[in-house]
Amino acid sequence: MARARAAGVLGIVVPAVEESGWARLRALSAAYGWRFALGTHPHALPRSRVVPTDLAGACAIGECGLDGGVPVPMDEQVRVLDAHLALAREAGLPVLLHGYRAHGALVAALRRWAPLRGVLHSYSGGPELVSTYVSFGLHLSFAGPITWANARKPLEALRRVPRERLLVETDAPDQCPAPHRGRSEPAMLPLVVAAMERVRGEPLAEALTANARALGFG
Ligand SMILES: [Zn+2]
Repeated sequence: MARARAAGVLGIVVPAVEESGWARLRALSAAYGWRFALGTHPHALPRSRVVPTDLAGACAIGECGLDGGVPVPMDEQVRVLDAHLALAREAGLPVLLHGYRAHGALVAALRRWAPLRGVLHSYSGGPELVSTYVSFGLHLSFAGPITWANARKPLEALRRVPRERLLVETDAPDQCPAPHRGRSEPAMLPLVVAAMERVRGEPLAEALTANARALGFG
């Protein structure tokens, strides 16, 4: 937290992974001043498919979504995602969405719920899908992969997102931005912002802060 503050990070949103961690997430968020989301991440679906009922203090629903690498049939994943989207709508909260190797199914599922409010995080879809997700009302956020030397597709996607729909994240502890290796942490956020600014050729820090605040994240 000290390193994040020193790096200029103004606020942190921590997504939930699964029910067993919700109480601890809530307690740590209160202790450290984070905002947090509640939900069941697709990686947890083999163990748990619980949708939260007590949303006290949560700024969003999630992380939830679809992941083609998880050994759970896509129709079952979609059912859990639908339950999260219904909850988000009922509660009037944005969603933190995960979509990985499942963009066909994700577009089909989200189309039924549009217009949506929230973020498709660490965008991994093709550049050609950006306008579709944007038309659903979503923000798209970018993380460490856009700093990696071999990055191509995410850079083209990043160029296509309207400025007012962009967000930035570290996805800590995953997706460490270059030149670091291993665990990422919030203090590395400026590296991702700088990479986004290089790719788009425009300053973004203020817009990213404003966009996060507009969603209740900042
Ligand atoms: Zn994710």
